[in-house]
Amino acid sequence: MTAYELVVRSRRVVTPEGERAAAVAVRGGRVAAVEPYGAPLAAPEDVDLRDLTLLPGLVDTHVHVNDPGRAHWEGFETATRAAAAGGVTTIVDMPLNALPPTVSPDALDAKLRAAEGRCHVDVAFWGGAVPGNVEELRPLHDRGVRGFKCFMSPSGVDEFPPLSPAELRAALAEAAGFGGLVVVHAEDPALLREPGGPSYRQFLESRPDAAERGAVELLAEEAARTGARVHVLHVSSAACLDVLEAARARGVRISAETCPHYLTLDAEQVPEGDTAYKCCPPIRSRANRDLLWDGLARGVLDCVVSDHSPSTPDLKVPDFAAAWGGVSSLQLGLPAVWTEASRRGFGLPDVVRWMAERPAELAGLPGKGAIAPGRDADLVAFDPDAAVQVDAARLHHRNPVTPYHGRTLRGAVLTTWLRGRPVDGVPHGRFLLGAE
Ligand SMILES: [Zn+2]
Repeated sequence: MTAYELVVRSRRVVTPEGERAAAVAVRGGRVAAVEPYGAPLAAPEDVDLRDLTLLPGLVDTHVHVNDPGRAHWEGFETATRAAAAGGVTTIVDMPLNALPPTVSPDALDAKLRAAEGRCHVDVAFWGGAVPGNVEELRPLHDRGVRGFKCFMSPSGVDEFPPLSPAELRAALAEAAGFGGLVVVHAEDPALLREPGGPSYRQFLESRPDAAERGAVELLAEEAARTGARVHVLHVSSAACLDVLEAARARGVRISAETCPHYLTLDAEQVPEGDTAYKCCPPIRSRANRDLLWDGLARGVLDCVVSDHSPSTPDLKVPDFAAAWGGVSSLQLGLPAVWTEASRRGFGLPDVVRWMAERPAELAGLPGKGAIAPGRDADLVAFDPDAAVQVDAARLHHRNPVTPYHGRTLRGAVLTTWLRGRPVDGVPHGRFLLGAE
């Protein structure tokens, strides 16, 4: 009998073929075999989860780590610890809010130095496309970034300016030349305005659905024209869904994500002055939220990823016009989405498709996102029925600010294995810079 280093059994293993009883055998950090639940398999460690579920580690392709430069907002040590505690075994770091932003190979080197030896999960990187750096895209691609993020409207930080429509076209054309992916914050700056005051209603009115829809229309046109592969980040407005569907129907290579906060929170429940809820694009109405779930069910939206974008608490002033825009939820995405998904009749295989399989495909990480032979043994023991009240101060995020504070969420992560090793406080994360 061949020996394995680890076997994990569960009556509810979520595999690409659905949920079933199985024994997952690990060798060399990878899933070597998926056998029947009671199969005799020799391993020094044999864990039986019984009725608890075993999920693949989630892949969160939208995380702002802010390190180096703004590590007091969030750093690699805290972010990746929070990720592991939340069942996320791979993050893809966003190129902005760190200093320098990841817009050149030198800046990527600075990122790698900041992250070296401090990552509890595997980490990949997006590069940035900003005005004037089109010549850096190919070298960044060759260094292993998963694609390029750009903004169509101001980003919130001066050192990462948006692309004009002409610059966007140039970036897409450049990326298309080497098969690169461009991921886009799509809001039309011409349709955004300064909020008329500090209230949530005024903030929401300042960033209308039409701004998102119009930007997605323009992006789809430019993707069609250049042949580039594009991805719409954090879709908050359901008004984008038919634009995405129509573009795909005519062969445009466009995918899209939404985020836990757009699926689980709504404008009607934002407490006045509680800017933990502020993000761009904004959390919209309850009716809009229902339509986003419909978009997920129909596959118009591919991924659910956190857009974890923290800051220090002092920037979250109780004024929706002035506060930093960004929601912190890296550690909470899985229970938040599961709470709402289960209420709406979805199963864990759906959640895994949105939060692991599709994000891994998006970022070009074929070793990640599923429990299947040959994949990395990134595994999560999950109690799908636990009820846990969120205490922001007890999360691993660097700063205790999250709109989920005080909420009771369904599901608890019990153990997270990264390439077959339990995440145990010693950083074993790797950089994903190749064709992993
Ligand atoms: Zn973001």
